Amino acid sequence: MVLQSHNNNNNMNNNVHVLVIPYPAQGHISPLIQFAKRLLSKNIKTTFATTHYTVQSITAPNITVEPISDGFDQSGFSQANNVDLFLTSFKSNGSKTLSNLVQKHQKTSTPITCIVYDSFLPWALDVAKKHGIYGAAFFTNSAAVCNIFCRIHHGLIEVPVDDLPLILPGLPPLNCRDLPSFIRFPESYPAYMAMKLSQFSNLNLADWMFVNTFQALEGEVVKGLTELFPAKLIGPMVPSAYLDGRIKGDKGYGASLWKPLSEDCINWLETKSSKSVAYVSFGSMVSLTSEQMEEIAFGLKQSEVNFLWVLRESEQGKLPKGFKELIKEKGIIVTWCNQLELLAHDGVGCFVTHCGWNSTLESLSLGVPVVCLPQWADQLPDAKFLEEIWEVGVRPKEDENGVVKRGEFVESLKVVMEGEKSEVIRRNVMEWKKLARDAVSEGGSSDKNINDFVDQLMKKEKHGNLGSY
Ligand code: UDP
Repeated sequence: MVLQSHNNNNNMNNNVHVLVIPYPAQGHISPLIQFAKRLLSKNIKTTFATTHYTVQSITAPNITVEPISDGFDQSGFSQANNVDLFLTSFKSNGSKTLSNLVQKHQKTSTPITCIVYDSFLPWALDVAKKHGIYGAAFFTNSAAVCNIFCRIHHGLIEVPVDDLPLILPGLPPLNCRDLPSFIRFPESYPAYMAMKLSQFSNLNLADWMFVNTFQALEGEVVKGLTELFPAKLIGPMVPSAYLDGRIKGDKGYGASLWKPLSEDCINWLETKSSKSVAYVSFGSMVSLTSEQMEEIAFGLKQSEVNFLWVLRESEQGKLPKGFKELIKEKGIIVTWCNQLELLAHDGVGCFVTHCGWNSTLESLSLGVPVVCLPQWADQLPDAKFLEEIWEVGVRPKEDENGVVKRGEFVESLKVVMEGEKSEVIRRNVMEWKKLARDAVSEGGSSDKNINDFVDQLMKKEKHGNLGSY
């Protein structure tokens, strides 16, 4: 990978050294490593610190990686197997080992001057402040989601009852089915809900606050958000090859927790005609109910579209008996793939997605229409925006038990893949693709915000000026 400078005044001798630290899940490591690459491309020395278990999955060239500990060094979260236990252990072990890492670098010629931390880890900001260095929060979700949770943290909203929509500054009315599941069902994952709110517990001490989104996409939402904190939009954090192309050779995140079956997928896709394949993926965390799995499986079969379905090993047992034999050459099921490579392939005509925020940004950045099947967490508001605000897809209706039945699903697939409406959707998504590229290209809104960050870091370093800007 050749790194190109966009700021001729920059050189690696600027004494700035940024440490980037993600929450150790796929949907967090990817955008943060991408941010690290952007900083490097602007000649900022950058180190990526992640947990022992995830260090081995980082393959991005030129990125220096250092381990920290979540207390479960063999296999991370699955070793803890309990959200509360994992988060508590990560906070105590993470704070200690991150602090040690900062200290280790303080004895070198390139001490760490700023920690860019995943907003899920507010304790990393405490570590930064303890050492007298800068701290920048990085939100890996949409500005809309920041807006919602920040208002809850500050006691500024009441969760609506009786199916009334939630009305918030900058946001469209959010119906019950559009609300993050932690709000709709607070008892479902109390530890995750607590974590979502803890992001704002010490945010007033952060020197910068970044959100992985862009002005054209969430400009309205941001008007409501900046009443709460001065968010800077720096996204989409998608590898440069798919956007501005300024980081040479940057075709993938360079961080994969599972081994992608790239060759199998591409070889199979090559046998299919242009825009004829539905790429189906529910990301790295979703676990479907057996009933929902069956409806999707038989829906895909019934639709007669070609499909490439990513189903993690742990999910495959829920497939209807004999399904793999039934689909023959129409479909292929793989445990993991290089999603960007597939979304960029001409054979893919739509993305059946769980609407995780990275998948959302990737579908927009690569110009792929979507069928939204959100399952939990922030996927529900993401789906609302995809369907109704950005108009790049369709969200089939779920029944009274929350299950999308095969008939509804097939109908949505058809709307997105053929007919008049599919052309409108495709035009819209191609427009977003252009706007995403513009945002990170030279002089674009996100590029400017990253350049401002770089400039401020260098100025502060020069003048020894600690404190908020
Ligand atoms: N992804 C991938 N291969 C797959 C499925 C997903 O590389 O087979 C990547 C995808 O490109 C995205 C990330 O995994 O960057 C998933 O993040 P997202 O926020 O969409 O969902 P999460 O996994 O956090 O629910």
